[in-house]
Amino acid sequence: MSEEYSILLSKIRLLDTQLGFRLTHKKELILKAVYNAKQPISIKEILNEIKKDNHIAPSMTSVYRILNTLEQFYIVHSIVLPSNNAKYYFFFFDKIQSYLICIKCKKMLRYKEENSLIFLDKILEKEDFNLSNVKIALYGICKECRTRKIKRK
Ligand SMILES: [Zn+2]
Repeated sequence: MSEEYSILLSKIRLLDTQLGFRLTHKKELILKAVYNAKQPISIKEILNEIKKDNHIAPSMTSVYRILNTLEQFYIVHSIVLPSNNAKYYFFFFDKIQSYLICIKCKKMLRYKEENSLIFLDKILEKEDFNLSNVKIALYGICKECRTRKIKRK
């Protein structure tokens, strides 16, 4: 387990006292699969990942239910790809994290750039809002997918 992931896990455990979110063993298995994925991952792929290291895997329904909860607590986030209408999940918990996500090939680029969030300051000041974390997901079509499309025509 990477150090970064251990730190994130301990922060997620804190949600228990803050918001009543309990990190169970099942949730941890699912979270690990989502975290390790290089790009947004489907429920089926999550289950396959869990089965690689565990003899007993949770059911599809249970994974789906847990992912819903993880989404409610802003720990994971999902996108629906227009190409196949399927839902894909990605880890969404870092304090300041922006994501660029291609809606064609579900390639994901994470970047940490605090300066890009300066525009938020005015809004926060105006609303007198105390910020705890920021997550921005930018959806679009990556360069590779755009070139591929042009080539096909
Ligand atoms: Zn793409």
